Amino acid sequence: MDVGRHPNIDLLAYSEVESVEGEAGDFRVTVRKKPRYVDESKCTGCGACAEKCPTVTSDEYNLGLGKAKAIYKYFAQGIPSAYTIDANLCRNFQAGKKCGVCQKVCQAGAIDYKQEAKTLEFPVGAVIVATGYELFDARRIPEYGYGRIPNVITALEFERFLSASGPTHGHVHRVTDLAVQEALPEAEKTCQKAFKGLERFEKQFEMTSDAFYERYESGEFKGGDEDYEKWAAAVRAARKAKDELEELRRKAESIEAAHRLAFIQCVGSRDIRFNKYCSGFCCMHAIKEAIIAREHDRDAQVYIFGMDIRAVGKGFEEYRNRGAHEAGIHYVRSRVAEVTEERDHTPVVWYEDTKERVVRRMPVDLVILSTACQPSASAKPLADLLGIELNEFGFFKTLSHLPLDTTKPGIFICGCAHSPMDIPESVAQASSAAARAAQVLSGSGTMRLAS
Ligand SMILES: Cc1cc2nc3c(=O)[nH]c(=O)nc-3n(C[C@H](O)[C@H](O)[C@H](O)COP(=O)(O)OP(=O)(O)OC[C@H]3O[C@@H](n4cnc5c(N)ncnc54)[C@H](O)[C@@H]3O)c2cc1C
Ligand code: SF4
Ligand code: SF4
Repeated sequence: MDVGRHPNIDLLAYSEVESVEGEAGDFRVTVRKKPRYVDESKCTGCGACAEKCPTVTSDEYNLGLGKAKAIYKYFAQGIPSAYTIDANLCRNFQAGKKCGVCQKVCQAGAIDYKQEAKTLEFPVGAVIVATGYELFDARRIPEYGYGRIPNVITALEFERFLSASGPTHGHVHRVTDLAVQEALPEAEKTCQKAFKGLERFEKQFEMTSDAFYERYESGEFKGGDEDYEKWAAAVRAARKAKDELEELRRKAESIEAAHRLAFIQCVGSRDIRFNKYCSGFCCMHAIKEAIIAREHDRDAQVYIFGMDIRAVGKGFEEYRNRGAHEAGIHYVRSRVAEVTEERDHTPVVWYEDTKERVVRRMPVDLVILSTACQPSASAKPLADLLGIELNEFGFFKTLSHLPLDTTKPGIFICGCAHSPMDIPESVAQASSAAARAAQVLSGSGTMRLAS
């Protein structure tokens, strides 16, 4: 918010850096501002366009757990608070299709289907790279079942479950139970349509479908009008739709909150097959999520499976202990071997209890994977573009004695672009990187002479 309003900061959202030329104190940056097809200066963020847009897609921000439209705001608090049209989805941009609904309902006149990309050039004295991280794709460890066992999710997905503005409004449910709830309106529609389809026959033959079908089954209409066969097929389809709807309703009525939660730590971290390093923040966010889950549901039983809990930071160990004493978190020292699935979609965690040295199994409602922090997908192309180096793990390389300086003077780094770190550390690094940049701008030297 502060950045968005600051008179000395130009925020270029929805833009890409195309080139950076020059040297410390005198760089020239070229940026491509992509078209949103919505005028940022006019859009009030009211959302009337998205409400009426007929093109529905899955909500990427909610990791596919909710619905979004072809005109969208990636997340509610995004700055600037402007909507964007996804030209790959919007009907107006598809050959042979037309729409224009958003333009009609937008009272601010912000929709501009003809908006084009803009190329902007700036002289800058210093550059700070803050491109963050990417999460490890849990499908790469197939034995944990992510993508195959629906009730195995990632910690980021679980964050969205816990959020009051998330797809479940803060309630934690098994994914399979959510699927039942989501299927209900469609099943109700199908059933209504199937019974409506019987009305034409009932009118034509002046008989109820039940009475007709009883007589049809007894062989009364054999070899008769072909409409009788169509009617019989329609009765069977309607009855099937009704049975399916009742089954779904029964299941929906018996749905409870997901009480038994198992976090699996170091998924893709501290693992020589993928990333050797510790991702730093996942132990603490697992504890945080477990505490919040327990605040939402006093019956929640939370297990955190990990080789050890790395509570490194001021007050972190106390937070870990609070998790155990006040939220009843069970820390299980173990390495999980596999997650299997029972017939009713219950995931089962198989692990070695390294204290007792025995293999155990634990059925739970949801398994939550704490996936590794990896270098951003843009790190390599950006490093090439900036002419700076990456380290052995693919994060931006810095100098050992100047931890925010990249291998090129005047280009600095902060946050998870540097290495895995939590928000307070990322913010502290951002301030330090800004101070280093200010030194370059003020001409007080890049301090590289010391190297
Ligand atoms: C499930 C989960 C829960 C967490 N909970 C907490 C918590 O409670 N507390 C805490 O302190 N930390 C938490 N963390 C860690 C936190 O996410 C990181 O510390 C923080 O996001 C790092 O900030 P960053 O700005 O370095 O990177 P990011 O947050 O990754 O931001 C980088 C930004 O740069 C953008 N970007 C990338 N490439 C480009 C490019 N080429 N051009 C322009 N933009 C680009 C990205 O889209 C992104 O918006 C959690 C992490 C996870 C996975
Ligand atoms: S023009 Fe595109 S974005 Fe606008 S309402 Fe129609 S489909 Fe949605
Ligand atoms: S912070 Fe914890 S869960 Fe994350 S990699 Fe390190 S030890 Fe594993």
